[in-house]
Amino acid sequence: MSAKQLEPLRITSVVAAPLCGESPKGGWSEEIKPEDSIHTLIAVHTDGGITGFGSVFSNGDLVQAGLGVLEPLFMGENALEPERVAEKMHQHTFWMGRGGTLTHTISGIDIAMWDILGKATAMPVGQLLGGCYRTKVQPYCSLLMEEPGLMGDVIAEYKDLGFSAFKIGWGPFGRRNDEKLDEAIVAAARKAAGDDARLMVDAGASDGHWPNGLKWAMRAADMLDNYAVEWFEEALRPDDLEGHQQLRASSSVPIAGGEVLTRRQAFQPWLAGGALDIVQPDVTKVGGISEQRRIAWMADDFGVKYIGHGWNTALGLAADLQLAAAMPGCDLVEYIGGSPYVDGILATPFELDAEGFLDIPAKPGLGVELDPDKLARYTPVNLF
Ligand SMILES: [Mg+2]
Repeated sequence: MSAKQLEPLRITSVVAAPLCGESPKGGWSEEIKPEDSIHTLIAVHTDGGITGFGSVFSNGDLVQAGLGVLEPLFMGENALEPERVAEKMHQHTFWMGRGGTLTHTISGIDIAMWDILGKATAMPVGQLLGGCYRTKVQPYCSLLMEEPGLMGDVIAEYKDLGFSAFKIGWGPFGRRNDEKLDEAIVAAARKAAGDDARLMVDAGASDGHWPNGLKWAMRAADMLDNYAVEWFEEALRPDDLEGHQQLRASSSVPIAGGEVLTRRQAFQPWLAGGALDIVQPDVTKVGGISEQRRIAWMADDFGVKYIGHGWNTALGLAADLQLAAAMPGCDLVEYIGGSPYVDGILATPFELDAEGFLDIPAKPGLGVELDPDKLARYTPVNLF
């Protein structure tokens, strides 16, 4: 078989489409409204007729501004070289907001370039990342905490849809100075999920003015252990590296975090410092697939488990599925319960199998196809 040289696919434009109208709640103390723009899709168009798609967990106006700054760096570049082009954008924007809007925006462009590389080579991204360890993965249904009476009903609704793993987070937990209430919420969730279900708890301490410290987190971790909770996420403020180190050392429940960190360099002290059992970078913020895969392997070298946080849209989830295929220890992906931006924009929606698993798309690129008519409900911008 002779080697075939692929002609470069030059980037001719990058388009950002903010999603709004049905933005799901975040459980934040200053709550998201349906009309708020917090998730943005990206299309990278090339001169070869192949278009790739990505996703950014950020406001549409910010992403549009980021594209304006980045344009001289990506325009005319070869979209078949995602890692080089993404690194070029990181390296030459040091003074212009790295770690924030620019890193977030690069994430969407990078994901779209991997999609293009897969489509051009007829390979799924997981395979391009070095090989697939699995063909399906368990999604955990991510749900906001509710008062105990309602919590069980919410879990039961998604259990009926076929989910067998759940994470409850944010809402009243840790925010009412009432540890009995916190326990009652978790007890209700465990009862509704059943003893066989996987259950995780996310305090959501990246919320504004998180009121609790290390001692609260230690007591909460002890309580969660009684309900066979698989991990305790964002139990402390997200900049509290030392607190996480102490909590991890004392807690029998694994400690998870990292969704707000961006750039691989930000993860180094957390991994080398033994602050986490599970690291949760968000592929739509952290710098994209190129950056996420390096963080996931760095974590693996430290014996820390990698579970992605790219739940914001169907394309974020699609990127997480490809990364889950390519990472040996990744046995879960986050799946936000009841978001139209995940469930309502693909030509073929995601579907759980009888065991509550998702097939990892085996088609080229991210392996999913946006439906332009469905998408038009949530954005005024034509990505195509
Ligand atoms: Mg979280």
